[in-house]
Amino acid sequence: MKYVLVTGGVVSGLGKGVTASSIGVLLKACGLRVTCIKIDPYLNTDAGTMSPFEHGEVFVLDDGGEVDLDLGNYERFMDIKLTRDNNITTGKIYQSVIDKERKGDYLGKTVQVVPHITDEIQDWIERVAMIPVDGKEGPADVCVIELGGTIGDIESMPFIEALGQFSYRVGPGNFCLIHVSLVPVLNVVGEQKTKPTQHSVRGLRGQGLTPNILACRSTVALDDNVKGKLSQFCHVPEQNIITLYDVPNIWHIPLLLRDQKAHEAIFKVLNLQGTTKEPLLKEWTSRAEICDGLHEPVRIAMVGKYTGLSDAYLSILKALLHASVDLRKKLVIDWIPACDLEDATEKENPDAYKAAWKLLKGADGILVPGGFGNRGVQGKILAAKYAREHRIPYLGICLGMQVAVIEFARSVLNLRDANSTEFDPNTKNPCVIFMPEGSKTHMGGTMRLGSRRTYFQVKDCKSAKLYGNRTFIDERHRHRYEVNPDMIARLENAGLSFTGKDETSQRMEIVELPNHPYFIGVQFHPEYKSRPGKPSPLFLGLIAAACGQLDTLIQGSGSQGNLSAKLGNGIAMEKVYQKGTTKPAKVLSDGLYSYCNGVQV
Ligand code: GLN
Repeated sequence: MKYVLVTGGVVSGLGKGVTASSIGVLLKACGLRVTCIKIDPYLNTDAGTMSPFEHGEVFVLDDGGEVDLDLGNYERFMDIKLTRDNNITTGKIYQSVIDKERKGDYLGKTVQVVPHITDEIQDWIERVAMIPVDGKEGPADVCVIELGGTIGDIESMPFIEALGQFSYRVGPGNFCLIHVSLVPVLNVVGEQKTKPTQHSVRGLRGQGLTPNILACRSTVALDDNVKGKLSQFCHVPEQNIITLYDVPNIWHIPLLLRDQKAHEAIFKVLNLQGTTKEPLLKEWTSRAEICDGLHEPVRIAMVGKYTGLSDAYLSILKALLHASVDLRKKLVIDWIPACDLEDATEKENPDAYKAAWKLLKGADGILVPGGFGNRGVQGKILAAKYAREHRIPYLGICLGMQVAVIEFARSVLNLRDANSTEFDPNTKNPCVIFMPEGSKTHMGGTMRLGSRRTYFQVKDCKSAKLYGNRTFIDERHRHRYEVNPDMIARLENAGLSFTGKDETSQRMEIVELPNHPYFIGVQFHPEYKSRPGKPSPLFLGLIAAACGQLDTLIQGSGSQGNLSAKLGNGIAMEKVYQKGTTKPAKVLSDGLYSYCNGVQV
C-alpha cells in the first residue's frame, strides 16, 4: 500500500478536500485503485451532532456513519463507497484507547499520547486503508489521507507526530506528502508572495514532516521565479510545485493537476514510474467544459434554514448540479430562508417577506431539504402548499417530505392542527410521529441511519419510472420521525399516494401526488448517492420537470442509465452552444461528444 498525505497550511478553506479528491481522480485515471481517509482533529466522535451552520453538512454513508462533508467529495469524485472508519476523529481515537485501557490491554503501563495515541492512529490508518471501497475485491493500491485543519493547530499535533512516525514505518517510496498552501497576490503590485508558504513549510518540518510536493492555491498561475524561490526555501524540486489557480468549476481541478504533471511527481516519490497509464480524463474534460458553456437557466428555489452557508446543503447542491449539467441547463439556486415566507415576517420585515415570495413564485422548481427543529417549518409548509396548488415541480427530502404530508393533511383533509410530534407533541392529528426504535435521551448516532431498502408499491408512478422500473432501491437515511402509519388510509383516500415503503410496508418512504406535474417527497436522502455523470434519478426528474421535459425523460426508459442518456445526449444537447459561438454542438450517435470550433464539447 502506498500513502499520499495531504496537509494544509497558512489558512483554512483552501479546498484541501477537493484537492485530495482530485488527486484520487488523477491516480484512478492512471489505472490505480484508490481509497481515502479523512482525519478530523476535533473531539466529537463524529459529525452527527455538529451544526451544519458551523461545520457544513453532515454526510451520511451506506453503513450509517455520519461523517465530514469531505467524504462526500471523495465519494462523488472517485465514485467509491466509504465506511464510517474512513473518517478518523480525535474522539474516536481516544475512545478506542480508553476502552483498551479499561479492558486492561495496557496493564502496567502509563497510557500516553506518545506512543499509545500515536500508535492507535497508525494502526487505524493501516487497518482502514485495506478496506476495499470501489466494489472490487482486495485492498486498493493507494490510500489518500487528508489531515483536516491547518499546520500549527494544537489539535492536530498528535496526528502530525503519528504521521511522521508512519512515514518512517512504511518506509521511503511508500509515502508522499503534498502540502496545500496559499500564495497571495498583492493587488497593488500584482506580486505573488511566497512567505506564508515558507513559514508553513517550516512549521511542518519543525513537527517532523517534509513535503514532497507543494500545491499552491493562487488566483493566477505561479511565475517561474516564484516557483524557484519556493523551491529554494522549501527544499521542494520546481517540477513538484503545482499551482491550483482559480478555475470556473471544481471539475477542472483534476485536469489542472494532470496538465502540471502532478501524477508524475507523485509516482517518482512513490516509485511507481512506468507502472501506470497516461491519465486521459476524457469525461472530466468534457464535463468541465460543458458546465462552463451552459447558459439556459433553470431556477430552483431552496427553502431551507441555513441559507447563509451553502456548505450546509452541499450534497443537495451537487445533486442539483449533476442533474442540470446532464440536462444541459445552467443551475440557478434561489435561496429562500423558510422563515421569510411566514406570516409573522410580513409584519416584522415586509421587505424580506416580499422578496422571499417573489423568489418562490419565480422558481421553475421548489426543493425543501431535510432539517431539524421548529424554526422555519411553517415557511416550508407554505412552500409545499404553493407548489401543490400552483403545480410547480416539488421535491421534498426527509423533513421536506414530512412537511408535504402535514400540509396535505391540513389543507385537503381539513385537519387544521395536523403536525409532526417533533414540532407539536400534543397535536390531536399527529401525521408525523417519533419512530418506535428512536432514543430521546441520546442524540449521537441514534437516528435511523444509512442505507435502507424501499420497495415500490405502484408501477405506474413517476418515482418508479425515474428509477428505471426497479422493484426496490437502496438509499441513505437520517431521521427520527416518520409518517404516521395510522393515517395512511385517510391520506391516500384523499389523493396522496405512498408509492414507496420499507420491507414492513409500515414505513413510508416515497409520497407522490399523481395528478401533479411533479410532486415527490422522500424520507431518504437521494443526494448522497448522486455522482457527476450519474445524477440521482429524483433530482433529474425535478430538473426535467422544471424545464418541461419530464415526459420525454421518462417515456420508454428502460433503465436509469438510459434515462439521462436519452435527454443528455439527445434533446438537451441540441441546445448547447459552445462558448463564443452561435453554433449548437452536435452529438454523435454513439454518445461521444463532438467538436465545435476545434474544442471538444
Ligand atoms: N427532523 C426530521 C426527523 O428527524 C427530519 C430529519 C431530516 O430531514 N433529516 O425525522
